[in-house]
Amino acid sequence: MSKKVLVLGEAREGVLRNVSFEAIAAAKKISGGGEVVGVLLGDSVQSLGEEMIQYGADRIITVEHPHLKQYTSDGFGQGFMAVYEQEKPDAVVFGHTALGKDLSPKIASKLSSGLISDVTDIEGEDDAAVFIRPIYSGKAFEKVKNKDGLLFITIRPNNIPPLELDSSRTGDIASITVEITNLRTIISEVVRKTTEGVDMSEAKVVIAGGRGVKSAEGFAPLQELANLLGGAIGASRGACDADYCDYSLQIGQTGKVITPDLYIGVGISGAIQHMAGMSNSKIIVAINKDPEANIFKVADYGIVGDLFEVIPMMIEEVKKI
Ligand code: FAD
Repeated sequence: MSKKVLVLGEAREGVLRNVSFEAIAAAKKISGGGEVVGVLLGDSVQSLGEEMIQYGADRIITVEHPHLKQYTSDGFGQGFMAVYEQEKPDAVVFGHTALGKDLSPKIASKLSSGLISDVTDIEGEDDAAVFIRPIYSGKAFEKVKNKDGLLFITIRPNNIPPLELDSSRTGDIASITVEITNLRTIISEVVRKTTEGVDMSEAKVVIAGGRGVKSAEGFAPLQELANLLGGAIGASRGACDADYCDYSLQIGQTGKVITPDLYIGVGISGAIQHMAGMSNSKIIVAINKDPEANIFKVADYGIVGDLFEVIPMMIEEVKKI
């Protein structure tokens, strides 16, 4: 049976995040030839609709309100629910991002729906779709089917490839007016930390440093390598606890879960809590002076050596390319 699927588009500073396009690709699979409707919530998001259509959405509904300039679960919840009530979809797709992780359970419980979270792949299509998601900190994968009722999923960024952009696609972009009221939180100002470069959650290359890096200054060569490869910097909790870098860079069970094309772990032992956040990376490279380090068990390529010698050599080699 063909389905109508709502996809929440996520934008940051006026730019759609890749996960929005990946969510459209997931929605297409689920829809079985039905309709994919993009939802954009914000204070000025109308202009982003076209790009979602070019990536495969059939039409867009926007809700614009000054209180939606910054994400709050109350505000976005009210905005999304208004679209939901109007559209009455068969399925909903969010990104498994900080926003999606916060908002999806609230909406699902409001709708008395189940939620299949952190989906990394979809086998089959339409009613036969089977959702694959990691469990036990990424040590195993389970396959889940939706029995009946609303199908509600969140997809892990960087796993389901987006469709190719087709600039000839067109579709309707409509807006609805929603009274956003009774907010328990109003964000008056956002003070950004000035982290260099690419966002780790969406980066294709992540260079992660651990306690072996030994100091905040020790991260500078890692940043240089990341810049050369167009990647981002990450860290173990050991490095964050030691104050070598900010906790926003922490990868793992209590940090961010990443699935880049290339992860390079530098001076990281490979504790189970760290591996929960990176073991699904497509290619894992580990640099550690201890040949027995646990991280070598999941590494595709291991370099046993002193990171202070290996990283400068890598920088020199990459500069030659
Ligand atoms: P270490 O274990 O100290 O490893 C440092 C490594 O660097 C060693 O293997 C050493 O051989 C190597 N090294 C040292 N010098 C050099 C050199 N010159 N060249 C090359 N290699 C060198 N951790 C996370 O990362 N993420 C999480 O989300 C997380 N959540 C946690 C949640 C809970 C409830 C708990 C209890 C722990 C959690 N941890 C988490 C912490 C985790 O258990 C480890 O303590 C932490 O990951 C260790 O960080 P590390 O590998 O950088 O440090």
